[in-house]
Amino acid sequence: MEKRAFQEFENKVCVITGGAGVIGSSIVSALAALGMKTVILDINKELAEKVAAEIQTKTGAEVFGLEANVLSRESLEDAKKQIHEKFGRISYLINGAGGNSPKATTQVETMDESNKDDWEKTFFGLQMEGFDWVFDLNFKGTLLPSMVLGKDMVEDGSGAILNISSMNSFKPLTKIPAYSAAKSAVNNFTEWLSVHLAKTGVRVNAIAPGFFLTNQNRFLLVDEKSGEPTARGQKIISNTPMGRYGEVDELQGTVLYLLSDLSQFVTGIVIPVDGGYSAFGGV
Ligand code: NAD
Repeated sequence: MEKRAFQEFENKVCVITGGAGVIGSSIVSALAALGMKTVILDINKELAEKVAAEIQTKTGAEVFGLEANVLSRESLEDAKKQIHEKFGRISYLINGAGGNSPKATTQVETMDESNKDDWEKTFFGLQMEGFDWVFDLNFKGTLLPSMVLGKDMVEDGSGAILNISSMNSFKPLTKIPAYSAAKSAVNNFTEWLSVHLAKTGVRVNAIAPGFFLTNQNRFLLVDEKSGEPTARGQKIISNTPMGRYGEVDELQGTVLYLLSDLSQFVTGIVIPVDGGYSAFGGV
C-alpha cells in the first residue's frame, strides 16, 4: 500500500440518501471525519439540516443538508443541480433511504389453529398500500437516485455506489414480506448494475446490516409500555451469536472498505454486518 488508506476520499463528494437517519448519519460522520464533502439528502429537511450542522461542527468537514425525495426524478435533478453548485461533481452515492411499514407487517408470525380465523392479523389482512410504499421506498428509492446521481461517476470514469440492504434479503423474516422482498430486489439490482457498469470504472456493492435498534423496527422489538424486549427481540438476540444488537457505528468499516480504491476489484457483492447472525444455523 503506497498511499495512506482512504486518502482518496479527501474533498470528494459523497451523497447519502436517508442520510439524516440513524444509520445514514453514522456513515456521514465516518466519511466527514476523513475529509469527504458529504451531502445528506433526506425528505426531512429540518432533520437533514440539523444533522449536517452537527456533523460539520464535530468534524470540521463540509456537510450539506438538502431536502429531496428519492422517489421523484424532478426532486433528485434539482438536488443534483444544487450539489454541483455547492460542492461539485458526485464521486460516491450511498442509497440509505429505506424502511418498513406496519401496513405491510403481519401481526402474527405464522398461521395456526389459534389464529386462522382472525384473517386481519395474518398475510390475508395486509394492505396493498403498505406493499406499494415499501417496494417504492426500498427498491425504486435505490434505483432512481442511482440513475440520476450516478451519471457523474460514469462520465468521470470512477466512483462507487453503495446500497443498504438488510439481513432479511437473504432469508425472509416472519411478519415483513414486503420489506424482505424489496431488500432482495435491492441485492439483485446491486448485482445487475455492477455488471452493467463494470467497464465504466464505477463499482456497485451493498451492505446487509443485521439487527440494529432504530426507529423503524423499535415497534417490533421493544414493548412500548414496559420498555422490555418483545418475544421477537429476544429471539433475535438469541440468534445473533454475539448476543446483542449491533451499534450503528459498527457499519462504518465495511462502508469505507467498499467505497475505497483499496477495493478496486470488488463489485456486485452484498456484505453482511450482523454479529454472526447469517453464519448461525440456530442450534
Ligand atoms: P431511519 O428511519 O433512521 O432513516 C431513514 C431516513 O430516510 C430518514 O431520515 C427518512 O427521513 C429518510 N427518508 C424516508 N423516505 C425518504 C424519501 N422518500 N426520500 C428521501 N429520504 C427519505 O432508518 P435507518 O434504520 O437509519 O435505516 C437506513 C437504511 O438501513 C434503510 O434502508 C433500512 O432499510 C436499512 N436497514 C436498517 C436496519 C436497522 O436495524 N435499523 C437493518 C437493516 C437495514
